[in-house]
Amino acid sequence: MDLLNTLVDKGLRRELPTREEALAVLATSDDDLLDVVAAAGKVRRHWFGRRVKLNYLVNLKSGLCPEDCSYCSQRLGSDTGILKYTWLKPDEASKAAAAGLAGGAKRVCLVASGRGPTDRDIDRVAGTIKAIKDQNEGVEVCACLGLLSDGQAERLREAGADAYNHNLNTSESTYGDITTTHTYADRVDTVTKAHAAGLSACSGLIAGMGESDEDLVDVVFSLRELDPDSVPVNFLIPVEGTPLAKEWHLTPQRCLRILAMVRFVCPDIEVRIAGGREVHLRTQQPLALHLANSIFLGDYLTTEGQAGQADLEMIADAGFEVEGTDQVTLPEHRVRAGGGCGSHESAGCGSHEDAGCGSHDGAGCGSHEAGGVCGTAAVAAEPRTDLVAVRRRGAGTDLAPNA
Ligand code: SF4
Repeated sequence: MDLLNTLVDKGLRRELPTREEALAVLATSDDDLLDVVAAAGKVRRHWFGRRVKLNYLVNLKSGLCPEDCSYCSQRLGSDTGILKYTWLKPDEASKAAAAGLAGGAKRVCLVASGRGPTDRDIDRVAGTIKAIKDQNEGVEVCACLGLLSDGQAERLREAGADAYNHNLNTSESTYGDITTTHTYADRVDTVTKAHAAGLSACSGLIAGMGESDEDLVDVVFSLRELDPDSVPVNFLIPVEGTPLAKEWHLTPQRCLRILAMVRFVCPDIEVRIAGGREVHLRTQQPLALHLANSIFLGDYLTTEGQAGQADLEMIADAGFEVEGTDQVTLPEHRVRAGGGCGSHESAGCGSHEDAGCGSHDGAGCGSHEAGGVCGTAAVAAEPRTDLVAVRRRGAGTDLAPNA
Protein backbone atom coordinates (compact mmCIF):
# COMPACT_ATOMS: atom_id res chain seq x y z
CA MET A 1 0.00 0.00 0.00
CA ASP A 2 1.47 3.36 -1.00
CA LEU A 3 0.20 4.95 2.20
CA LEU A 4 2.14 2.54 4.39
CA ASN A 5 5.35 2.80 2.35
CA THR A 6 5.16 6.57 2.64
CA LEU A 7 4.55 6.41 6.39
CA VAL A 8 7.45 4.01 6.97
CA ASP A 9 9.79 6.28 5.00
CA LYS A 10 8.64 9.30 6.97
CA GLY A 11 8.90 7.45 10.28
CA LEU A 12 12.48 6.43 9.60
CA ARG A 13 13.28 10.07 8.77
CA ARG A 14 11.31 11.43 11.78
CA GLU A 15 9.17 13.36 9.37
CA LEU A 16 5.64 14.34 10.41
CA PRO A 17 2.91 12.62 8.39
CA THR A 18 0.09 14.75 7.08
CA ARG A 19 -3.20 14.80 8.95
CA GLU A 20 -4.76 13.04 5.97
CA GLU A 21 -2.24 10.22 6.23
CA ALA A 22 -2.86 9.83 9.96
CA LEU A 23 -6.61 9.76 9.35
CA ALA A 24 -6.11 7.19 6.60
CA VAL A 25 -4.39 4.84 9.06
CA LEU A 26 -7.45 4.99 11.31
CA ALA A 27 -9.66 4.32 8.29
CA THR A 28 -7.89 1.17 7.12
CA SER A 29 -9.93 -2.01 6.95
CA ASP A 30 -9.51 -5.09 9.11
CA ASP A 31 -8.20 -6.86 5.99
CA ASP A 32 -5.26 -4.44 5.94
CA LEU A 33 -4.62 -4.54 9.69
CA LEU A 34 -1.61 -6.84 9.65
CA ASP A 35 0.01 -4.73 6.92
CA VAL A 36 -0.53 -1.64 9.09
CA VAL A 37 1.01 -3.35 12.12
CA ALA A 38 3.96 -4.60 10.05
CA ALA A 39 4.63 -1.11 8.66
CA ALA A 40 4.43 0.67 12.03
CA GLY A 41 6.46 -2.19 13.50
CA LYS A 42 9.33 -1.33 11.14
CA VAL A 43 9.38 2.19 12.54
CA ARG A 44 9.19 0.90 16.12
CA ARG A 45 12.10 -1.52 15.59
CA HIS A 46 14.19 1.12 13.86
CA TRP A 47 14.11 3.43 16.89
CA PHE A 48 13.56 1.01 19.79
CA GLY A 49 14.62 -2.43 18.61
CA ARG A 50 12.69 -5.22 20.30
CA ARG A 51 12.93 -3.69 23.75
CA VAL A 52 9.89 -3.22 25.98
CA LYS A 53 10.17 -0.76 28.82
CA LEU A 54 8.23 -1.70 31.94
CA ASN A 55 6.77 0.97 34.19
CA TYR A 56 5.18 0.52 37.57
CA LEU A 57 2.39 2.60 39.05
CA VAL A 58 2.17 3.52 42.70
CA ASN A 59 -1.02 5.35 43.59
CA LEU A 60 0.15 7.60 46.43
CA LYS A 61 -3.28 9.04 47.16
CA SER A 62 -6.48 7.53 45.87
CA GLY A 63 -9.95 8.95 45.29
CA LEU A 64 -11.89 11.96 46.61
CA CYS A 65 -10.66 14.32 43.91
CA PRO A 66 -12.59 17.60 43.60
CA GLU A 67 -12.24 17.62 39.81
CA ASP A 68 -14.93 16.20 37.52
CA CYS A 69 -13.07 14.28 34.80
CA SER A 70 -15.81 12.09 33.35
CA TYR A 71 -13.54 9.10 32.74
CA CYS A 72 -12.15 8.95 36.23
CA SER A 73 -13.26 6.73 39.09
CA GLN A 74 -11.43 9.02 41.52
CA ARG A 75 -13.59 12.06 40.78
CA LEU A 76 -15.71 13.54 43.49
CA GLY A 77 -19.06 11.78 43.56
CA SER A 78 -17.84 8.63 41.84
CA ASP A 79 -19.52 5.61 43.39
CA THR A 80 -17.23 3.05 41.83
CA GLY A 81 -16.15 1.64 45.15
CA ILE A 82 -12.44 2.15 44.56
CA LEU A 83 -9.87 2.17 47.33
CA LYS A 84 -9.78 5.59 48.97
CA TYR A 85 -6.80 6.68 51.02
CA THR A 86 -4.65 9.69 51.66
CA TRP A 87 -0.89 10.02 51.09
CA LEU A 88 1.14 6.85 51.48
CA LYS A 89 4.16 7.31 53.71
CA PRO A 90 7.55 7.24 51.94
CA ASP A 91 8.37 3.75 53.23
CA GLU A 92 4.97 2.41 52.14
CA ALA A 93 5.40 3.87 48.66
CA SER A 94 8.96 2.60 48.49
CA LYS A 95 7.83 -0.89 49.40
CA ALA A 96 5.21 -0.87 46.65
CA ALA A 97 7.75 0.48 44.17
CA ALA A 98 10.26 -2.22 45.11
CA ALA A 99 7.78 -4.92 44.12
CA GLY A 100 7.45 -3.45 40.64
CA LEU A 101 11.18 -3.03 40.25
CA ALA A 102 11.78 -6.60 41.34
CA GLY A 103 9.28 -7.63 38.67
CA GLY A 104 11.35 -5.98 35.94
CA ALA A 105 10.15 -2.37 35.87
CA LYS A 106 12.76 0.35 35.39
CA ARG A 107 10.47 3.30 36.03
CA VAL A 108 8.22 4.02 38.97
CA CYS A 109 5.29 6.36 38.39
CA LEU A 110 4.15 8.13 41.53
CA VAL A 111 0.58 9.30 41.10
CA ALA A 112 -1.73 11.26 43.37
CA SER A 113 -5.35 12.17 42.81
CA GLY A 114 -6.31 15.81 43.00
CA ARG A 115 -6.31 19.00 40.98
CA GLY A 116 -2.69 19.62 41.77
CA PRO A 117 -0.19 19.47 44.63
CA THR A 118 0.25 21.97 47.44
CA ASP A 119 3.79 22.95 48.34
CA ARG A 120 3.47 20.62 51.33
CA ASP A 121 2.52 17.80 48.95
CA ILE A 122 5.67 18.48 46.96
CA ASP A 123 7.65 18.05 50.20
CA ARG A 124 5.93 14.72 50.83
CA VAL A 125 6.64 13.49 47.33
CA ALA A 126 10.23 14.67 47.58
CA GLY A 127 10.62 12.43 50.65
CA THR A 128 9.12 9.52 48.76
CA ILE A 129 11.38 10.05 45.75
CA LYS A 130 14.39 10.08 48.06
CA ALA A 131 13.29 6.87 49.78
CA ILE A 132 12.84 5.10 46.45
CA LYS A 133 16.07 6.37 44.93
CA ASP A 134 18.11 5.60 48.05
CA GLN A 135 17.00 1.99 47.91
CA ASN A 136 17.00 1.35 44.17
CA GLU A 137 20.02 2.42 42.19
CA GLY A 138 19.27 3.49 38.64
CA VAL A 139 15.51 3.69 39.04
CA GLU A 140 13.67 6.32 37.05
CA VAL A 141 10.98 8.20 38.92
CA CYS A 142 8.11 10.01 37.26
CA ALA A 143 5.67 12.13 39.23
CA CYS A 144 2.05 12.62 38.25
CA LEU A 145 0.40 14.99 40.66
CA GLY A 146 -1.94 17.06 38.52
CA LEU A 147 -1.65 20.72 37.57
CA LEU A 148 1.60 22.36 38.68
CA SER A 149 2.00 25.86 40.08
CA ASP A 150 5.02 28.01 39.36
CA GLY A 151 8.22 26.59 40.83
CA GLN A 152 6.83 23.14 41.65
CA ALA A 153 8.35 21.40 38.64
CA GLU A 154 11.75 22.81 39.60
CA ARG A 155 11.31 21.52 43.15
CA LEU A 156 10.44 18.06 41.90
CA ARG A 157 13.47 18.10 39.65
CA GLU A 158 15.68 19.10 42.58
CA ALA A 159 14.14 16.28 44.63
CA GLY A 160 15.35 13.79 42.02
CA ALA A 161 12.28 13.29 39.83
CA ASP A 162 13.28 12.33 36.31
CA ALA A 163 9.98 12.92 34.61
CA TYR A 164 6.53 14.43 34.98
CA ASN A 165 3.34 13.08 33.51
CA HIS A 166 0.31 15.07 32.58
CA ASN A 167 -1.92 13.94 29.73
CA LEU A 168 -3.79 16.07 27.25
CA ASN A 169 -6.29 13.21 27.03
CA THR A 170 -8.36 14.46 24.11
CA SER A 171 -8.52 17.19 21.52
CA GLU A 172 -8.77 20.83 22.52
CA SER A 173 -12.17 21.15 20.86
CA THR A 174 -13.73 18.35 22.90
CA TYR A 175 -11.90 18.88 26.17
CA GLY A 176 -14.81 20.77 27.71
CA ASP A 177 -17.05 17.76 27.13
CA ILE A 178 -15.03 15.53 29.44
CA THR A 179 -14.00 17.96 32.16
CA THR A 180 -15.34 21.31 33.29
CA THR A 181 -13.19 22.03 36.33
CA HIS A 182 -10.01 22.73 34.41
CA THR A 183 -9.13 23.43 30.80
CA TYR A 184 -7.06 21.97 28.03
CA ALA A 185 -4.87 25.08 28.28
CA ASP A 186 -4.22 24.27 31.96
CA ARG A 187 -2.95 20.88 30.92
CA VAL A 188 -0.70 22.25 28.18
CA ASP A 189 0.67 24.74 30.71
CA THR A 190 1.68 21.99 33.13
CA VAL A 191 3.42 19.92 30.45
CA THR A 192 5.27 23.06 29.37
CA LYS A 193 6.31 23.81 32.96
CA ALA A 194 7.67 20.27 33.39
CA HIS A 195 9.63 20.56 30.16
CA ALA A 196 11.05 23.94 31.11
CA ALA A 197 12.21 22.62 34.48
CA GLY A 198 14.29 19.93 32.80
CA LEU A 199 11.92 17.10 33.60
CA SER A 200 11.28 14.58 30.90
CA ALA A 201 7.75 15.29 29.75
CA CYS A 202 5.27 12.47 29.50
CA SER A 203 1.89 13.28 28.01
CA GLY A 204 -0.68 11.17 26.28
CA LEU A 205 -4.29 10.51 25.50
CA ILE A 206 -7.35 8.44 26.26
CA ALA A 207 -9.08 6.81 23.31
CA GLY A 208 -12.58 5.41 23.33
CA MET A 209 -14.41 8.34 24.88
CA GLY A 210 -16.73 8.73 21.90
CA GLU A 211 -14.29 10.95 20.05
CA SER A 212 -14.01 11.17 16.28
CA ASP A 213 -10.98 10.15 14.24
CA GLU A 214 -10.29 13.84 13.73
CA ASP A 215 -10.18 14.35 17.52
CA LEU A 216 -7.68 11.54 17.89
CA VAL A 217 -5.46 12.93 15.17
CA ASP A 218 -5.77 16.42 16.69
CA VAL A 219 -4.61 15.32 20.12
CA VAL A 220 -1.73 13.23 18.77
CA PHE A 221 -0.52 16.11 16.59
CA SER A 222 -0.81 18.45 19.59
CA LEU A 223 1.25 16.03 21.65
CA ARG A 224 3.93 15.84 19.01
CA GLU A 225 4.08 19.63 19.04
CA LEU A 226 4.68 19.57 22.82
CA ASP A 227 7.53 17.16 22.14
CA PRO A 228 7.20 14.84 25.14
CA ASP A 229 9.65 11.98 25.57
CA SER A 230 6.81 9.56 26.11
CA VAL A 231 3.20 9.25 25.03
CA PRO A 232 0.94 6.96 27.03
CA VAL A 233 -2.05 5.71 25.10
CA ASN A 234 -4.94 4.87 27.40
CA PHE A 235 -7.98 2.99 26.19
CA LEU A 236 -10.99 4.07 28.19
CA ILE A 237 -11.99 1.64 30.89
CA PRO A 238 -15.69 2.41 31.23
CA VAL A 239 -15.82 1.91 34.97
CA GLU A 240 -19.22 1.55 36.60
CA GLY A 241 -20.01 4.60 38.72
CA THR A 242 -18.46 7.08 36.27
CA PRO A 243 -20.39 9.11 33.69
CA LEU A 244 -18.73 7.15 30.88
CA ALA A 245 -19.59 3.69 32.17
CA LYS A 246 -21.61 2.86 29.06
CA GLU A 247 -19.06 4.07 26.52
CA TRP A 248 -17.86 0.76 25.13
CA HIS A 249 -16.58 1.67 21.66
CA LEU A 250 -13.22 0.02 21.24
CA THR A 251 -12.32 -3.21 19.50
CA PRO A 252 -8.85 -4.80 19.51
CA GLN A 253 -8.50 -3.83 15.85
CA ARG A 254 -9.40 -0.22 16.55
CA CYS A 255 -6.84 -0.10 19.36
CA LEU A 256 -4.13 -1.44 17.05
CA ARG A 257 -4.93 1.16 14.40
CA ILE A 258 -4.76 3.92 17.02
CA LEU A 259 -1.38 2.71 18.28
CA ALA A 260 -0.08 2.49 14.72
CA MET A 261 -1.21 6.04 14.03
CA VAL A 262 0.50 7.29 17.20
CA ARG A 263 3.70 5.46 16.22
CA PHE A 264 3.73 7.05 12.75
CA VAL A 265 3.18 10.54 14.21
CA CYS A 266 5.64 10.02 17.08
CA PRO A 267 8.17 7.63 15.53
CA ASP A 268 11.09 8.17 17.91
CA ILE A 269 9.06 8.88 21.07
CA GLU A 270 8.34 6.26 23.70
CA VAL A 271 4.82 5.06 22.98
CA ARG A 272 3.34 3.34 25.99
CA ILE A 273 0.25 1.20 26.12
CA ALA A 274 -1.44 2.35 29.29
CA GLY A 275 -4.80 1.66 30.91
CA GLY A 276 -7.28 -0.54 29.14
CA ARG A 277 -4.68 -2.83 27.52
CA GLU A 278 -6.18 -6.04 28.87
CA VAL A 279 -9.78 -4.88 28.62
CA HIS A 280 -9.70 -3.77 24.99
CA LEU A 281 -6.79 -5.48 23.25
CA ARG A 282 -7.42 -8.73 25.09
CA THR A 283 -5.83 -11.65 23.18
CA GLN A 284 -4.33 -9.23 20.66
CA GLN A 285 -2.01 -7.59 23.22
CA PRO A 286 1.14 -9.20 21.73
CA LEU A 287 0.48 -7.57 18.34
CA ALA A 288 0.45 -4.19 20.09
CA LEU A 289 4.04 -4.75 21.21
CA HIS A 290 5.02 -4.33 17.55
CA LEU A 291 3.74 -0.75 17.81
CA ALA A 292 4.41 0.42 21.35
CA ASN A 293 7.76 0.05 23.10
CA SER A 294 6.54 0.45 26.65
CA ILE A 295 3.79 -0.87 28.94
CA PHE A 296 2.78 -0.82 32.58
CA LEU A 297 3.57 -3.90 34.59
CA GLY A 298 0.83 -5.25 36.84
CA ASP A 299 -2.06 -3.17 38.12
CA TYR A 300 -3.29 0.31 37.27
CA LEU A 301 -4.29 3.05 39.68
CA THR A 302 -7.77 1.89 40.52
CA THR A 303 -8.23 -1.22 38.40
CA GLU A 304 -6.36 -4.50 38.20
CA GLY A 305 -4.21 -5.51 35.26
CA GLN A 306 -3.26 -9.02 34.30
CA ALA A 307 -0.70 -10.75 36.50
CA GLY A 308 2.78 -9.26 36.23
CA GLN A 309 4.11 -12.70 35.35
CA ALA A 310 1.68 -12.87 32.42
CA ASP A 311 3.04 -9.53 31.16
CA LEU A 312 6.58 -10.94 31.22
CA GLU A 313 5.56 -14.18 29.50
CA MET A 314 3.69 -12.26 26.81
CA ILE A 315 6.77 -10.16 26.06
CA ALA A 316 9.03 -13.20 25.82
CA ASP A 317 6.55 -15.26 23.79
CA ALA A 318 6.12 -12.42 21.30
CA GLY A 319 9.89 -12.29 20.76
CA PHE A 320 10.57 -9.05 22.62
CA GLU A 321 12.87 -8.37 25.57
CA VAL A 322 12.37 -6.39 28.75
CA GLU A 323 14.51 -3.25 28.66
CA GLY A 324 17.17 -3.24 31.37
CA THR A 325 18.29 -0.36 33.55
CA ASP A 326 21.57 -0.37 31.64
CA GLN A 327 19.78 0.27 28.35
CA VAL A 328 18.78 3.71 27.16
CA THR A 329 15.12 3.99 26.24
CA LEU A 330 15.22 6.80 23.73
CA PRO A 331 17.25 7.08 20.53
CA GLU A 332 20.55 8.86 20.93
CA HIS A 333 19.49 12.08 19.24
CA ARG A 334 16.67 12.56 21.76
CA VAL A 335 18.87 11.88 24.76
CA ARG A 336 21.48 14.30 23.48
CA ALA A 337 18.77 16.87 22.95
CA GLY A 338 18.29 16.93 26.68
CA GLY A 339 15.30 14.76 27.30
CA GLY A 340 14.99 11.18 27.57
CA CYS A 341 16.00 8.78 30.00
CA GLY A 342 16.73 5.32 29.91
CA SER A 343 20.08 6.61 30.77
CA HIS A 344 19.24 7.45 34.34
CA GLU A 345 22.00 9.95 34.55
CA SER A 346 21.08 13.51 34.29
CA ALA A 347 18.03 14.45 32.38
CA GLY A 348 14.67 12.96 32.88
CA CYS A 349 13.48 9.77 31.42
CA GLY A 350 10.88 9.50 28.93
CA SER A 351 7.58 8.15 29.75
CA HIS A 352 4.73 7.58 32.04
CA GLU A 353 1.03 7.14 32.56
CA ASP A 354 -1.55 4.48 32.91
CA ALA A 355 -5.07 4.35 33.19
CA GLY A 356 -3.47 6.77 35.29
CA CYS A 357 -1.99 9.98 35.65
CA GLY A 358 -1.97 13.16 33.92
CA SER A 359 -5.44 12.09 33.63
CA HIS A 360 -5.12 10.04 36.77
CA ASP A 361 -7.26 7.32 35.44
CA GLY A 362 -8.67 6.06 32.30
CA ALA A 363 -12.12 6.50 31.13
CA GLY A 364 -13.55 8.82 28.65
CA CYS A 365 -15.76 11.46 27.48
CA GLY A 366 -19.30 11.17 27.01
CA SER A 367 -19.65 13.67 24.37
CA HIS A 368 -20.32 13.17 20.70
CA GLU A 369 -22.29 10.28 19.54
CA ALA A 370 -23.19 7.60 21.87
CA GLY A 371 -23.07 4.55 19.82
CA GLY A 372 -20.58 3.71 17.19
CA VAL A 373 -16.90 4.03 16.93
CA CYS A 374 -16.27 7.03 14.79
CA GLY A 375 -14.29 6.52 11.67
CA THR A 376 -14.00 3.00 10.50
CA ALA A 377 -14.76 -0.57 11.30
CA ALA A 378 -18.33 -0.26 12.37
CA VAL A 379 -18.08 -3.37 14.45
CA ALA A 380 -19.91 -2.80 17.69
CA ALA A 381 -17.69 -3.30 20.70
CA GLU A 382 -19.22 -5.71 23.15
CA PRO A 383 -19.16 -4.40 26.71
CA ARG A 384 -16.66 -6.56 28.58
CA THR A 385 -17.52 -5.49 32.08
CA ASP A 386 -16.33 -8.92 33.19
CA LEU A 387 -12.77 -7.78 32.47
CA VAL A 388 -12.95 -4.70 34.70
CA ALA A 389 -11.91 -5.33 38.28
CA VAL A 390 -11.46 -2.60 40.86
CA ARG A 391 -7.99 -2.81 42.42
CA ARG A 392 -8.10 -4.43 45.85
CA ARG A 393 -4.40 -5.21 46.39
CA GLY A 394 -1.09 -3.40 46.55
CA ALA A 395 -0.76 0.24 47.61
CA GLY A 396 -3.32 1.24 50.23
CA THR A 397 -4.09 -2.37 51.25
CA ASP A 398 -2.43 -5.07 53.31
CA LEU A 399 -2.22 -7.37 50.30
CA ALA A 400 0.85 -7.88 48.13
CA PRO A 401 0.97 -5.84 44.94
CA ASN A 402 0.70 -7.41 41.50
CA ALA A 403 4.14 -7.31 39.94
S1 SF4 B 1 -8.23 12.48 36.37
FE1 SF4 B 1 -7.04 13.34 38.10
S2 SF4 B 1 -7.88 15.45 38.26
FE2 SF4 B 1 -9.38 14.29 37.05
S3 SF4 B 1 -10.88 13.51 38.55
FE3 SF4 B 1 -9.32 11.90 38.27
S4 SF4 B 1 -7.83 12.23 39.92
FE4 SF4 B 1 -9.04 14.12 39.69
